[in-house]
Amino acid sequence: MNITFRGGVHPDDCKEYSRDAALTVYEPSGDLVFPVSQHIGKPAKILVKKGDPVLVGQKIADNDGYISADIHSSVSGKVKAIERRRTVAGSMVDCIVVENDGLYNTVEGFGEDTDYTVLDRKQILFRIREAGIVGMGGAGFPTPVKLEPKNPDAINYVIVNGAECEPYITCDDQLMRTHAAEIVTGLKIILKLFDNAEGVILIEDNKPEAIEAMKSVVGSQRRIRVQVAPKKYPQGGERAIMKVVTGLDTKLAVLPADYGCIINNVGTVYAIYEAICKNIPLIRRAVTVTGPGINNPSNLIARLGTSCRELIEAAGGFKEGEEIKKILSGGPMMGIAMSSIDVPLQKGNNAITVLTEDPVEIAEEMQTACIRCGRCNRACPVGLIPQEMQIAAEKKDYDRYENKLYGLECIQCGSCTYVCPAKRPLMVLFKHAKTEILAIKRAEQAKAAAEKALADKQEKESLMELFRKFREEEEKAARKATENETRVQAIIASGKEEK
Ligand code: SF4
Ligand code: SF4
Repeated sequence: MNITFRGGVHPDDCKEYSRDAALTVYEPSGDLVFPVSQHIGKPAKILVKKGDPVLVGQKIADNDGYISADIHSSVSGKVKAIERRRTVAGSMVDCIVVENDGLYNTVEGFGEDTDYTVLDRKQILFRIREAGIVGMGGAGFPTPVKLEPKNPDAINYVIVNGAECEPYITCDDQLMRTHAAEIVTGLKIILKLFDNAEGVILIEDNKPEAIEAMKSVVGSQRRIRVQVAPKKYPQGGERAIMKVVTGLDTKLAVLPADYGCIINNVGTVYAIYEAICKNIPLIRRAVTVTGPGINNPSNLIARLGTSCRELIEAAGGFKEGEEIKKILSGGPMMGIAMSSIDVPLQKGNNAITVLTEDPVEIAEEMQTACIRCGRCNRACPVGLIPQEMQIAAEKKDYDRYENKLYGLECIQCGSCTYVCPAKRPLMVLFKHAKTEILAIKRAEQAKAAAEKALADKQEKESLMELFRKFREEEEKAARKATENETRVQAIIASGKEEK
């Protein structure tokens, strides 16, 4: 019997737009833009300056600490500018702009074959870090950090997340259909780091060709199996995957490694294969450009830094005669509305979805008060109570939201919003609450740090004052001693004269 996770929903998967569009390589024509922050953690430190020549695969920004990631140029050419530019999420970020010379000259050793079986644990982790690999399912967490849990021997499952449960998106499906052998090799590389683990490739049952392709490569290999899960959203969430693979019910605020699991997206595992076996850092990715507003929904292999406008044009552009209501980075459940398409493709961007209807706009028109039906609570895959969270979020009662209702555990999957008959904008409220709570925490941390710095300064000043007074006293005493000595000497001298 198939084990499933609690809650979840069954939206129309809308995969028909692009599911059979073969992966095709798109070469950019415009400038390439590389934001220094494409990952969770500290932004990378820029290594180049305006006018510098660069090559494909050249490191142009260096990770700034353990939770950070390198950035590499995906083309050859010249650094045209280093400036702040808008990114997919809408924020302004420091970016390296490279003028593409169209030659694609590479750094030495790029694409060179390496036998991964001769590499040890340290060499594998070093190469993955040097390749700038981060989670490519959207989260952008630096992969080397994930691959170094406290106790590697306690890892029982290395899971390749091929669920691709978000509606419309099909690039992982295509990647599995066409690069199954490379993905299995990537998994074997990760398994070298975890002696006690079994490799599991988890795929939803709406991808029969991918299942077949992966199964034919896996065959009867020891330590690796393909697990098929019934289609249900959000199957690709880490908590859902852990339940389906291990059967364990996971507690809140616990990492997959605490349950013996390491989970990586299909694209990330493919990037690990390229980094280790081909000496190619993370410079390109599979991306779906789809939706009812696109002429030729496509799955593309695109160089990072390519303009999203170019990618939309590569997929035939917007459909004429259709009113484009919304453009999303990602899919309709978890995607981000794009305010501009003149933004670069980043490591974590798996799709551009062009909609001719705006579900948020429609919901806003139909919105009513909460009828307390509890459907949102039953749909939440994390086990939260969205019905209560919305009240706390609206009242800005963030103490209750965070500490009583565990609102920060929300994975923003949108299942609650999807089932709500009153069309309450639940996920939007939760996103907003999270942003505000984190901003408050940051401000509190900054205030505490400033207060500590002030207290340290005052303590230092009072110590200095104490020291100064002590020195003064000492000098005064020394002066007095000298005067006394002089007087004694004078008395002795005058006594001698009288004699
Ligand atoms: S699903 Fe909507 S109407 Fe029902 S309890 Fe939740 S918020 Fe209220
Ligand atoms: S958006 Fe958050 S609260 Fe709503 S169902 Fe998903 S995890 Fe639960």
